[in-house]
Amino acid sequence: MKKIVVIGSSNVDTTLHVKDFPKPGETINATDVTTAGGGKGANQAIAAAKSGAETYFINRVGEDSDGGYITHQLKSYGVDTTYVQTTIGAKTGHAYITLNEAGQNDIIIDHGANYELTVEDLKAASDLINNWDCIIAQFETPIDVTTSAFKMAKKAGKVTILNPAPAIDKIPADLLKYTDIIMPNETESAKITGIPIKDNSTLATNAEKLHLLGVKNVIITYGDKGAYISTPDVETLVPAYKVDATDTTGAGDTFIGYFASNLNADMSNFEEAAKIASRASSIAVQRLGAQPSIPTEQEVKQAMEDEE
Ligand code: ATP
Repeated sequence: MKKIVVIGSSNVDTTLHVKDFPKPGETINATDVTTAGGGKGANQAIAAAKSGAETYFINRVGEDSDGGYITHQLKSYGVDTTYVQTTIGAKTGHAYITLNEAGQNDIIIDHGANYELTVEDLKAASDLINNWDCIIAQFETPIDVTTSAFKMAKKAGKVTILNPAPAIDKIPADLLKYTDIIMPNETESAKITGIPIKDNSTLATNAEKLHLLGVKNVIITYGDKGAYISTPDVETLVPAYKVDATDTTGAGDTFIGYFASNLNADMSNFEEAAKIASRASSIAVQRLGAQPSIPTEQEVKQAMEDEE
């Protein structure tokens, strides 16, 4: 069984469903209010666990009921929360989403305890990082902590996967030095490289620029068009499955969790792992929500068998 550590964020997502966005100064009524678990780190950990990997999550929550809710959600999906710690006096991360009838959203994030993660927390989890197969991180927790984690993992010969999200202009060279695989979506990639993605040729140029930053393996996810892989051995677009998408929230997180879970330790099966990840994401986009929409390993296997 694959062993995966995810270091990253967890949030409670509160969504205010509205007909139209309010204008500045206007008061309106919501048509509904819903709450769900979220945060890129938590979503990716749940995707890895649902795909059958033994998964640990390293994170901090606040001293409030939201922290208990998040920990409960993670556990219910099979994620080990031994290293989810509580910061006394802090609030759990929270995303406030306004969703209009056209499906557009505005999101305001209160990062809360996600920014309280420290290098000391990693040291407490060093046995895990040194012995697990693969570590995944994003940019919703302190970058210096991610850099220390990747450095530790690379010293132990483990695979490191960076999802550079949300997008930032300049990724520290120190972090890139310890990154085996970088997995941005098209917007994040364009922000790093400065080259907008329009087609296969701009995907290739983006991948080339990312390699020049010192990372050998690149995957740029490109929504319903697929995922572009660029490694020393393979350069190709793995097409997305044609499905009727109802909610694409969490498509990228599902892809990352499934990809990591299915990648060999020597990274020799990039294309195959991306095809399984693509299948998993194509199921997720046909369901509502992020965490509940992530399919199980059995569902993905069944879908792949059905198409043979
Ligand atoms: P999000 O932020 O919504 O979680 P993302 O922008 O990080 O997603 P995408 O590039 O949109 O990630 O999608 C990741 C993968 O999910 C794609 O590479 C593709 O395989 C699959 N996917 C996304 N949208 C669709 C779709 N409409 N139909 C089928 N597959 C899709």
